[in-house]
Amino acid sequence: MTSTDGPVPDAATTTVPDSASGESRNRRSAALSGRERIVPTRPDWAAAAIPAHRKPLPILTRDAIGQAGTTATHARLSGKNRAQNDSGWPPEIAALRERGSQIRRETLEDLEGYLHSLTEKAEANGVVVHRAATPEDAARVVSRIAAEGDVKLVVKAKSMATEEMHLNAHLEGQGIEVVETDLGEYIVQLADERPSHIVGPALHKSQVEVGALFNELAGQQIPQEAEDLAAFARERLRTDFRRADMGITGVNFAAADTGTLTLVTNEGNADMVTSQPRIHVAVMTLEKVIPRFRDLAVLVPLLCHAATAQKLTVYLTMLNGPRRKDEADGPEQLHLVILDNGRSSIVGGPYEEVLACIRCGNCQIACPVYRTVGGHAYGSVYGGPIGAVLTPLLENTRDGADLPFLSSLCGACYDACPVKIPLPDMLVDLRADYESRAARPRRLLWRLWARLWDRPIGFRLTVIALRVLGPLLPRALVRLLPGPGKGWATGRALPAMGNAGRFRSWFAGRRAL
Ligand code: SF4
Repeated sequence: MTSTDGPVPDAATTTVPDSASGESRNRRSAALSGRERIVPTRPDWAAAAIPAHRKPLPILTRDAIGQAGTTATHARLSGKNRAQNDSGWPPEIAALRERGSQIRRETLEDLEGYLHSLTEKAEANGVVVHRAATPEDAARVVSRIAAEGDVKLVVKAKSMATEEMHLNAHLEGQGIEVVETDLGEYIVQLADERPSHIVGPALHKSQVEVGALFNELAGQQIPQEAEDLAAFARERLRTDFRRADMGITGVNFAAADTGTLTLVTNEGNADMVTSQPRIHVAVMTLEKVIPRFRDLAVLVPLLCHAATAQKLTVYLTMLNGPRRKDEADGPEQLHLVILDNGRSSIVGGPYEEVLACIRCGNCQIACPVYRTVGGHAYGSVYGGPIGAVLTPLLENTRDGADLPFLSSLCGACYDACPVKIPLPDMLVDLRADYESRAARPRRLLWRLWARLWDRPIGFRLTVIALRVLGPLLPRALVRLLPGPGKGWATGRALPAMGNAGRFRSWFAGRRAL
């Protein structure tokens, strides 16, 4: 394995000043030193740990909409004008989309078989494979590897699977320092927040906010151009790559026929994380397996196009095992942790296709609701349409059962999805599931409403009543409804009633124009 990221300072001769204490410490992360002085003011929906019980969805979204950060995100995303959402996919990518969709469905038809084959091939390549049923199990596996390897410093590349495990908190609780090395993740870690987008973790942060964060870390005003900020982070991270005992990465695709683990990145940090530390732990959720190595020729360009509108990312890393005798770098140990976290129970069910996801994040950018409320409003690891479907299906996430309502059902997510996951259909079905489990009075209310609007007289009576009471209703609802009714009414408002008269006469008037 080789690194294309330039020379690395010699760890033996480098000391890292700890600006808080004035001491120099050899084992302390260079990237994070001084971090203790950063106390950002941030909304509570951005807190690093996802609370066990989320606030009700209307409250979360109301709070999120009120945050300046999400407005800026909206403006930035709207300006991106991702062509494939609006005007269809270019012909060559449309063909890849068709084939990629087939490959992902083929994978799901025999997921366990491909995982078995991946395990065999990877082990034959010298990789130690671990299967973990729950995020806690997976975190314990990584903690044990770290403890056995006497690990003090971990450098991490971006991995959503480790977000599911809250891995950083686990390792830090063990006294291990963890440094995120993807620039977006690094920013989010410094701000003590969570990623708000699968591909762009710090999408909710403006350049000004990042500059202020880095100024605080540096203890002085530093140049604020984007290149300067990136160079500042790069400089601080560089020493840690060489010092770290363990590197942790995700996996974009794992080929069942060769055991090859593929990482698709743009910053070169993953190459450092996988080549410099003596232990490398790759963490993947089980659906990341693909049948054949040659399928990468379809899935990688498809992912790159959907995620970042690139033909190919700057780095494409393929790992076939730990360092061999004749190789100059690479880890002495390579572990692969395969996390289930409830996915096995989705296989074979009505929502199976959600596991075809290749984590491009394009449905998030395409979604008007996500663009308005931002990723943190979902209160889960995955925001946007993919999160609104996946989160309620995963284990231990009963708090997220109302997430499918965080969608306008406009269908933009399906159009944007490179592997054609029918997200809008799933959102509708999950809403029905949610309602079927709703309390009896609530179900009765909906049934009553359906009966009323079944008949023209019922509909007309409702319209007359609304015309009279409409202007008074929103406040009265919030004030008068007790218990769960109050929660339902909070964050909802009825549109103002117009004076256009009856619909039929309005429609007749329109036709006469
Ligand atoms: S559901 Fe589709 S669009 Fe959304 S992240 Fe997954 S692959 Fe990308």
